[in-house]
Amino acid sequence: MRRLSLEARIALALFAMAALTLLMALGVAALGLSVWLTVALVAAAIAVMVWKIPGRILAPLVSLASVLDAVRAGDFSQRLRADRKGIAGELAGSVNRLSETWRQREGSRRETDALLAKLLHEIDLAIFTFDDQARLVLANPAACALVGLRLGPGVEARSLELHDYLVHDVTDPVHLVFPGGAGRFLVRRRPFRIEGRAHCLLVLTHAEAALGAERREAWQSLVRVLGHEINNSLTPIKSIAQTLAAAAGEQRASSPCMHGSVELTEGLNLIAARADTLGRFVAGYAALARLPQPQPRRIDLRELIERVTEMETRFRVRRSGPDITVQADPDQLEQALINLVKNAVDAVLDCGDAVEIRWRAQGATVEIEVIDNGPGPPDSDNLFVPFFTTKPGGSGIGLLLSRRIAEMHGGHLTLVERKDTPGAVARLGLPLGKL
Ligand code: ADP
Repeated sequence: MRRLSLEARIALALFAMAALTLLMALGVAALGLSVWLTVALVAAAIAVMVWKIPGRILAPLVSLASVLDAVRAGDFSQRLRADRKGIAGELAGSVNRLSETWRQREGSRRETDALLAKLLHEIDLAIFTFDDQARLVLANPAACALVGLRLGPGVEARSLELHDYLVHDVTDPVHLVFPGGAGRFLVRRRPFRIEGRAHCLLVLTHAEAALGAERREAWQSLVRVLGHEINNSLTPIKSIAQTLAAAAGEQRASSPCMHGSVELTEGLNLIAARADTLGRFVAGYAALARLPQPQPRRIDLRELIERVTEMETRFRVRRSGPDITVQADPDQLEQALINLVKNAVDAVLDCGDAVEIRWRAQGATVEIEVIDNGPGPPDSDNLFVPFFTTKPGGSGIGLLLSRRIAEMHGGHLTLVERKDTPGAVARLGLPLGKL
C-alpha cells in the first residue's frame, strides 16, 4: 500500500468495496441468508473500510499538512518525500519548492534587516520612529545619545519634546535642547505604515554640522586671502614704525629740548604694538583655516584637564569626573578646552565666582562641560561665527576653533545659558569610538 500512488490507493479501495458487496450478494444467493442479515453484514464491512481506509489512503496528505504548518511557523527545514508516484509526488515536490523559496526569502530578509540595523547603528543622524499613539517604537544609538536616555519602546514623543514635529513639517532649522546636545537642528518627518497602522520617522541633523562644511570652505578661503593681504601690509608698517621710533629716540637723546619727540616715539611704538597685535590676530585665523587633521592617541582625560586648569592662573577652576581614557589628538583637545576655560574665567571675572569643568562617559560619548556662573552667553546666533566677540581685546575665534576641533573628532560643541542660575555651560561631546 505504501508504495502505491494516491490514485491507485483510491481505485484499490473502491474496488475492494465493490468486491465485498458482490461477495455478500453471492453469499445471500448461495447460502439463502435473509436480506436484513446480508444488509447488516455489508453495512458492517463498509463501516470498517470507511474507518480504516481513508487514513491509509490519505497518509501522504497528513505529512503534507504538517510540512505546511512548519512553513507557516517559520521552520523551513522540513521536506516531503518527492519520489512518490502520481499526484502525491507532485504535491510533495510543489510543497518542497514552496518551502525552499520561503527559506531563501527569509534568509535575504534577515540579511537586509541586519544591514539596516547596522546602518542605523553606525549613522550619526538621530533617527526615531513613533507609532500612531506618538509612542517610541525605535531609536538608533545616535538618537539615544542625543536624548541622553536609555530609550525603551513606549516613551512618549511629548516627554522628548518631539511631539510637535510628528504632525507638522518644519523647513527651517529649530533650536532644541537635549541632554546630549543643544543647538539648531534640521528635523525631517516621514509618515509610513506598519501593518496598516500609521507611523512616523523623525530624523534630526545638527544644522551646524550640515551647513558647516560649505560655510567653512568659504571662511577658510576668505581668511587665507585676508590674512595674506593684511600680513603683507602689517610687516612693513611695524618695521617702519619701529625704525622711526628708534630714530626719534636717538634724535631726542642728541637734542633733549626737541618738543613733541616723546609723543612721536610713543605714537610710533603704539603703531608697532597695534600692528603686532593685529598680526597675531590674523595668525590666529590663519591657524584656524589650516587646522590639521587630528592625530588621535590614547589620552588620560583627567591628566589633560588638570594640565588645562593649571594653565589658567587667573582663577581656580574646579574639576570633577571619573578616570576615562579617550582616543583624541591631545594638542587639539587641549586647545579646545583652553579656549572654553578661558571664556568661562573671562565671564566670571566681571561677575561671578565659580568655574567648574566636569566630565563623564555617556553611552558611546564622553561629555565635557565647562560651567561658570558669569552673566551667561549673549543672546546671539553668531557665537560661532568668526570675528564675533563682545570683549574689547577679543578675537572671536576661540569658540569657533573649539567647535571645529570637536567636529573634526566627530563630536559637537554647544554654548548655552544655565537653567538653574545665571551663567553658561559649554558642552563638548566626543564619540568614544572615534576618539
Ligand atoms: P573671544 O573670547 O575672543 O571673544 P570666542 O569665540 O571664544 O572669542 O567667544 C565669542 C563670544 O562668545 C565671546 O566674546 C562672548 O561674548 C561669548 N562667550 C563665550 N563663552 C562665554 C561664557 N562662558 N559666558 C558668556 N559668554 C561667553
